[in-house]
Amino acid sequence: MRRKIVAGNWKMNNDLSETEALLNDLIAQVPNTDVNVMVAPTYVNLFQAFNVLKEHNIEVIAQNMHQEAKGAYTGEISANMLKSVGINTAILGHSERRAYFGETDELLAKKADAALANDIQVVFCFGEELEDRKAGNHFSVVESQLKNALFHLDASAWKNIILAYEPVWAIGTGETASPEQAQEMHAFIRKTISEKFGSEIADELSILYGGSVKPANAAEIFAKEDVDGGLIGGASLKAADFVAIINAF
Ligand code: PEP
Repeated sequence: MRRKIVAGNWKMNNDLSETEALLNDLIAQVPNTDVNVMVAPTYVNLFQAFNVLKEHNIEVIAQNMHQEAKGAYTGEISANMLKSVGINTAILGHSERRAYFGETDELLAKKADAALANDIQVVFCFGEELEDRKAGNHFSVVESQLKNALFHLDASAWKNIILAYEPVWAIGTGETASPEQAQEMHAFIRKTISEKFGSEIADELSILYGGSVKPANAAEIFAKEDVDGGLIGGASLKAADFVAIINAF
């Protein structure tokens, strides 16, 4: 079902006590809302975050996941491990994973398969670099990221996928895509999914925008027809800002 979603990606921030403090602030401040609210603390705090939030309407999600079920993959975390601590959603393909950890579309196709096979909902991140946009290649780059990582899936898999369009030039830079640029790309993404998987799946799909969303710009971005919410980095680390972004819906 097409849902309104605001998800906070905490990245490598917040130790255990900071995590508990931010979660308690969110419990106190997140309103009763039809927006699905998610937060992604670091792996070591997922279990505690799940316990703190389990009576509340905020979902704890993972920032990443390994594609293999188990074995000699030092430092990695499997789908089953996430499930065992109450986690049912994972972000895959964040641009920082692609840039610093060499994650490719082909690897992400395997991660998506592993997540979906274990009933883990995927927040799939993708988006063009600044050079792509300057060269006018942004639509073709985004299309190929989608095709390479997700077009092998069965139509039935799409009920467990959320897309997060995140132009790399807007992540953590303070530079945001204009609402018009976001809408133009989101409409293109929905059309691309519709052409391959049909309009029913495309219409039901939630497509989030990510890239320097803040309280000051969230409302005009979320007002666009094909923008179903946001994946929020920096501004998700302060409860007041994150809550203001949720309230922007
Ligand atoms: C992100 O990391 O997904 C992100 C969108 O970060 P920021 O909001 O800080 O640009």
